[in-house]
Amino acid sequence: MSGMDRRRFLLHAAALGATTLSPGSLAAAKPAGAPFRVVVIGGGYGGATAARYLKLIKPDLDVTLVERTQRYVSCPGSNEVIGGLHPASWLERRYENLRRNSGIRIVCDEVKELERSRRQVILDTGTRLPYDRVVLSPGVAFRWDAWAGYDEAASRRIPHAWQGGPQTLELREELAAMRRGGVMVIVAPPNPYRCPPGPYERASLAAYYLKQRNPRAKILIIDPKTQFSKQALFLKGWEDLYPGMIEWVPMSAEGAIDRIDVTRRTVHLDFGQHVADVLNVIPPQKAGTLAERSGLTDESGWCPIDARHFLSSRDPFIHVIGDACSAPPMPKSAFAANTQAKVAAAAIADAAEGRDAGTPTLINHCYSFLAPDYAISVTGVYRYSESEHGLTATATGETPMDADRRLEARSARAWQRHFARDAFG
Ligand SMILES: Cc1cc2nc3c(=O)[nH]c(=O)nc-3n(C[C@H](O)[C@H](O)[C@H](O)COP(=O)(O)OP(=O)(O)OC[C@H]3O[C@@H](n4cnc5c(N)ncnc54)[C@H](O)[C@@H]3O)c2cc1C
Repeated sequence: MSGMDRRRFLLHAAALGATTLSPGSLAAAKPAGAPFRVVVIGGGYGGATAARYLKLIKPDLDVTLVERTQRYVSCPGSNEVIGGLHPASWLERRYENLRRNSGIRIVCDEVKELERSRRQVILDTGTRLPYDRVVLSPGVAFRWDAWAGYDEAASRRIPHAWQGGPQTLELREELAAMRRGGVMVIVAPPNPYRCPPGPYERASLAAYYLKQRNPRAKILIIDPKTQFSKQALFLKGWEDLYPGMIEWVPMSAEGAIDRIDVTRRTVHLDFGQHVADVLNVIPPQKAGTLAERSGLTDESGWCPIDARHFLSSRDPFIHVIGDACSAPPMPKSAFAANTQAKVAAAAIADAAEGRDAGTPTLINHCYSFLAPDYAISVTGVYRYSESEHGLTATATGETPMDADRRLEARSARAWQRHFARDAFG
């Protein structure tokens, strides 16, 4: 690591309180000279950051990043694509910089199995990667059995657009083709799920698009919850920007979701039903399939971890970070995945050197756009609590009601640029 990189990393890690992290129990002695092998699974915001920071902190680690796709497609920013602010290509992240500049081995393959008893990662092509530690960041999977009528086959007709990929563009095209004065229905998922403010940002940016091209159109958000992230700020923004255009239907108003009829584009609730011209169903979620298949999830469907170092409660050699892990009260966001990746990377570097653990402080900061020059944000600072055996929020905050939303939008743009670089190099 160059002197500048090391200084930058130390500043960053100090800000996270992560430099002294590593539990004594992790500090398994390695024979002198043997490389400490880390396999990172998943090249999204969590995995790419982990791989990059492992090498920044401890360049002599042997780091392999396994990702099934050649190019990662970002979810952050995808609502802006749906709202017509950017082309879909704007969401692509490549691995060239990581490959070229970091000394990370990048393998484009699917991890088929984690053979935990032999500490080997088995790839689809049959290759076996032995490891001392795994960092697992597989993102989310959907609970296809949760809502009658909306299974994987149905999602090919009615897009969820909740994983980076072609569905973002499909939804955008459906919006563009919607009849004059039509209704877009967004079905939001129950907690916990990836990106708590995401469905409401999506409604806002769809409204931004429709206001210009189809101003009599309406957007309905059907919600199995009774409250949502940044709620007061969203409601105020909708009143200011899109009066009468967006309606939020919480569970307390019309009951739970009974079934979804994808042929008739109808959502049936306990006490009502809504017919959509454009239907977007965001299904309930759980940890990515590999985590479940590898026995790393609990009955909640998410991966229990020790938040001091994001080590799985099921396996002392596997760190689970990002959306797949259960780290309440941290939300499931790219920002959170990035912070957790740094804590896990520091823990692994410390373990490789036989150092003991500190207590990490983590941060999350999530922007949402309601229009190109109108954004809001929420921040949380989280610290490990011995008495709670988990994270507690030590500080939280939102955009003040009277704050300048244009300034927030400018900060959000700057964050998007720097954040992509921090994760993907
Ligand atoms: C519409 C929307 C907007 C959002 N906006 C924001 C935002 O503004 N700010 C923010 O902080 N967050 C935002 N998020 C949330 C963010 O996308 C996720 O929290 C983040 O992507 C989590 O990172 P991750 O590494 O856990 O998972 P992912 O980013 O999903 O990465 C997982 C990777 O693992 C790979 N993978 C999975 N299984 C395997 C396997 N078996 N073998 C090989 N590879 C595998 C996948 O291909 C994928 O690339 C948004 C999400 C959505 C849906």
